[in-house]
Amino acid sequence: SSFGFRDVDAREKVRLVRGVFDSVASNYDLMNDLMSAGVHRLWKDAAAAKLNPRPGETILDVAGGTGDMARRYARMARQAQERRGGSDASVIVLDYNAEMIMAGVNKGGEPEMSWSVGDAMALPLPDASVDAYSISFGIRNVADVPQALREARRVLRPGGRFLCLEFSRPIAGPIRKAYDAWSFHAIPRIGEWVAKDRDSYQYLVESIRRFPDQPTFKGMIEAAGFSRVSVTNLSGGVAAIHFGWAI
Ligand code: SAM
Repeated sequence: SSFGFRDVDAREKVRLVRGVFDSVASNYDLMNDLMSAGVHRLWKDAAAAKLNPRPGETILDVAGGTGDMARRYARMARQAQERRGGSDASVIVLDYNAEMIMAGVNKGGEPEMSWSVGDAMALPLPDASVDAYSISFGIRNVADVPQALREARRVLRPGGRFLCLEFSRPIAGPIRKAYDAWSFHAIPRIGEWVAKDRDSYQYLVESIRRFPDQPTFKGMIEAAGFSRVSVTNLSGGVAAIHFGWAI
């Protein structure tokens, strides 16, 4: 075939395909570290703590990529379970890119995790079926953000939690100046060196600029039907956690 797979046996094929997904995942992880100077790990820890996963809950991580948030949720729910009992949590990673899902499966999951391919704008889940919904560095890429927020509201049961971790608007002053230099100059260069792809990283920086600021996004979450929406700035607003309740 044009992929050169015709003469390799099935086991070899699996190994080759795995290699592709492993390199997708490791490139992706490397870029995350470079772009956020390693800080995305701390932001993700902060977001997972805010979501506060509990034993027995069904937690949906949308645009979950290779499962960074879901692994945190699974471990935290299990730690709580070891302390005070309760049943196993169920953590669903959903992403519309099957390659990201495959890369995540290869990276390894936790027993509580399951993986699924699907779109944030049309979730393959019934109404009121999950206890918590999260989306981390994903909503910025969704074509119709209000529609994704309505879907989040639909699948959450009453009392459910919504959490979004996303790049946001740095507060004015020195942080903003440093951030502008970093994002407009450093990130496209890093993208060129590491991924040989300046344009994609340029696009990424621009998509962050275009995304609504904290109060605007908070208003959109409220418009989708969430209550008591709060904003937590991370690293001076370079990223932010938006959190709300489905009541
Ligand atoms: N949540 C992971 C994290 O924090 O590391 C991955 C973030 S990655 C920057 C963005 C992910 O969003 C990609 O895996 C992409 O496939 C996914 N994505 C973009 N639009 C989507 C949509 N409409 N529905 C589901 N996933 C989507």
